[in-house]
Amino acid sequence: MSPDVIVVGGGLMGCSVARRLAQDGARVLVLERSVPGAEASSAAAGILGPTVESFDDALALQLGRRSRELHAELAEELDELFGIDVGFRRCGVIKIALDDAELSELDVQGSRLEVQGVRCRRWAPEELLEEEPAANPDSAGALSIPEDAQVEPKKLLAAVALGAEHEGVTFRTGSTVRGVDVASGQARGVQLDEETIEAERIVVAAGSWTTLIPGLPVPPKTIYPVRGQMISTHTRPPIFRRVVFGAGGYVVPRPDGRVLCGSTMERVGFERGITFGGLADVIRKAIRIAPRLASAPIDGHWSSFRPGTPDGLPLVGETRIDGLFLASGHYRNGILLAPLTAELIADAMSGKAGSREAEALSPRRFEEA
Ligand SMILES: Cc1cc2nc3c(=O)[nH]c(=O)nc-3n(C[C@H](O)[C@H](O)[C@H](O)COP(=O)(O)OP(=O)(O)OC[C@H]3O[C@@H](n4cnc5c(N)ncnc54)[C@H](O)[C@@H]3O)c2cc1C
Repeated sequence: MSPDVIVVGGGLMGCSVARRLAQDGARVLVLERSVPGAEASSAAAGILGPTVESFDDALALQLGRRSRELHAELAEELDELFGIDVGFRRCGVIKIALDDAELSELDVQGSRLEVQGVRCRRWAPEELLEEEPAANPDSAGALSIPEDAQVEPKKLLAAVALGAEHEGVTFRTGSTVRGVDVASGQARGVQLDEETIEAERIVVAAGSWTTLIPGLPVPPKTIYPVRGQMISTHTRPPIFRRVVFGAGGYVVPRPDGRVLCGSTMERVGFERGITFGGLADVIRKAIRIAPRLASAPIDGHWSSFRPGTPDGLPLVGETRIDGLFLASGHYRNGILLAPLTAELIADAMSGKAGSREAEALSPRRFEEA
């Protein structure tokens, strides 16, 4: 029997959308060329930090804050259903300033956030060191935002994929989609290497590779890869209580002492791997945030591709082709925005009137005439 919906890509976006649509009663098939979570969704730091990422964009900030709250509910739900702790913690984030110019910028950032109703605290260097003793003692001050959170992306991905299967979603791994079939302005199915699968609704959630799939009405380079390199270490006790941004990088503490440090932002196409220069950059930034990391062991390093877009916002919703939807291009915030994206796709499929935010994220803004 043909599925009602085909989802292309088994990253966090594809799994979240598939689960949500199955909850609405759809028969959903996920086609993943590798295995679920093979790409960016397993490489991410898991910061749920809209106040840092989107402080200067009211719409993005609002979307991010909403999705962060959906994460809190999702984490509880997954714990109740499967006993899986996905590591959601409302640990708060801080941004440290290393000189007076950065301190003035933080002040502006704090004021913009306060206008949007976000509670912030400005810390003098002494308060910073009292709260986070491992922070750089030469810091000029910090901005603390308690409402932001973190999650563990690999655990989340595994739990959401399990949740999707629990709702009846079928996964086919090792299935590369070579093109989307369209006839008379309506989606008809997808082509694999040796077969075609029919469905009248298709959601392409293939991360950085989305707009390379033939048959979409957006130009192939609309979504492009931005490589990020990461390093992990551990400290006893945990280096920080909060996620700490500074020096152009960040340090994410897990409660058991694991520490993730990130990240580079490189336009190198789909070149995989890590480089001497990239790791040196991440290490230098991490040590500027927390000098004692200089003596920490390196436990691991990896890289992956953030799906970037020209305006920094994702492409979420139906294209001008009936039944063809995109859920991709979430750049640095795909973990954060996954639950909201699933809601928006479910709304679009059930024909709910487009909200202002749905309009702003519509893939039609990039479509060719
Ligand atoms: C180093 C790094 C750190 C990050 N940190 C954070 C963070 O702290 N917070 C945050 O919110 N976000 C973060 N991100 C961003 C986040 O990881 C991404 O935005 C998000 O994971 C994108 O999810 P996705 O499902 O769209 O893409 P992906 O996880 O890349 O999944 C796409 C899937 O599609 C499959 N696929 C591709 N082409 C095809 C095809 N033709 N047929 C079938 N399957 C296909 C791939 O194999 C892959 O499994 C980070 C990213 C990186 C790289």
